[in-house]
Amino acid sequence: MKRRQAIKNLSILPVTGVALGSSLTLGSALTSCSSSPSKPQRNIFKELGIRTFINAAGTYTALSASTMYDEVLDTIQFASQHYAAINEVQDAVGKKIAELCHAEAAMVTAGCWSALVLGTAGVITGDDRRKVAMLPNNLSELKSEVLVQRTHNHGYSHALTNTGAKLIEVETVADVRKAINPKTAMMWFLNYAEPNGQINAKEWVDLGKEYGIPTMIDMAADATPVENLWKFNDMGFSLVCVSGGKGLRGPQSAGILMGKQDLIAAARLNAPPNSGNIGRGMKVNKEEIIGMYVALEKFINSDHKVMWKMWEDRIAVIVDAVKAVDGVTTNVTVPEIANITPTLSISWDQEKIKVNGNEMRTRLREGTPSIEMMGGRDNVIITAWMMHDGDAEIVASRMVEELKKATA
Ligand SMILES: *Cc1c(COP(=O)(O)O)cnc(C)c1O
Repeated sequence: MKRRQAIKNLSILPVTGVALGSSLTLGSALTSCSSSPSKPQRNIFKELGIRTFINAAGTYTALSASTMYDEVLDTIQFASQHYAAINEVQDAVGKKIAELCHAEAAMVTAGCWSALVLGTAGVITGDDRRKVAMLPNNLSELKSEVLVQRTHNHGYSHALTNTGAKLIEVETVADVRKAINPKTAMMWFLNYAEPNGQINAKEWVDLGKEYGIPTMIDMAADATPVENLWKFNDMGFSLVCVSGGKGLRGPQSAGILMGKQDLIAAARLNAPPNSGNIGRGMKVNKEEIIGMYVALEKFINSDHKVMWKMWEDRIAVIVDAVKAVDGVTTNVTVPEIANITPTLSISWDQEKIKVNGNEMRTRLREGTPSIEMMGGRDNVIITAWMMHDGDAEIVASRMVEELKKATA
């Protein structure tokens, strides 16, 4: 499934969310969230009547994306009991992250979006504190144009304009050569959109180098395969932006900006704990900064073959169960470029099984336990990487139950 398509599908959520307002009593339908509940825990979700669910959808921000590794939670707990100077925390963690990902330098940001904003700001201001204070206004004095391929220019590119920068759309290499002028600050690339554009990542980097213009890549959700975490630094991008709380399973409100030493230093001038800048509101405290590092370390050092096999096994549990229902078709694919994880589409003969994809997802969402997945009218789409142990079996049996119930 393409990310874009998934985002489109997600746009139905707010509507359904409203419809769900009436069934908040489902709060009792809680699934266990923490993998180490050693003492009886206050069930704050139940107390507040908040629905929790099995995440068969994937790393969607609106669905709280991922749950953190136990190592990350322990780190946050530990870090929260001590004081530390934020700049010293960023220095130390940045150095470690840079080493892990083959970058010159790195910093932890408040998510990938924040990395996009702060990285762009750093490119525009450099180490000039006067310029830092000017953003996002008065950019006519500064280099403030960012080149972006037309097919990359949607949704997330808005982050770049938070700085005041203007996006200049290009399509071909010739367009790039024509667009570059003394006001050009940066060239931005959206990793998952690579197949849709005429200029690939490597060509983009080479063009930037040819003209001495910094290049930035947004690879927010693309930490699988793990090599992606250093691939774009090795390729020569000046700045690389990653989400911390998607596949990396770090804090949801953390991300990574990494790349050239001078640009990271400039980005930090635009970031907290400094103020009088555009980034002061994009706060990350020591817990998230250190938690981000531990998540990255844990992810990189994981056995990725074992992890992949676990995702495949979970998908297989669901496939085996639903295939037994007459009229059901399953199809497992792996996206080529972003959100690389086994992705299952389940469809069925809607003449025989009288429920469409949207209705099916509503029934699963409103059932016990609640289950979230993606898809459209014709299918449901499931990924297993954000599931917890035992979830796949529940998803399988609930799907079978609803498919059979709808069978004429
Ligand atoms: C999720 C996402 C972002 C935003 O990342 P956050 O970590 O949620 O701030 C930016 N770009 C792309 C392509 C994304 O998928």
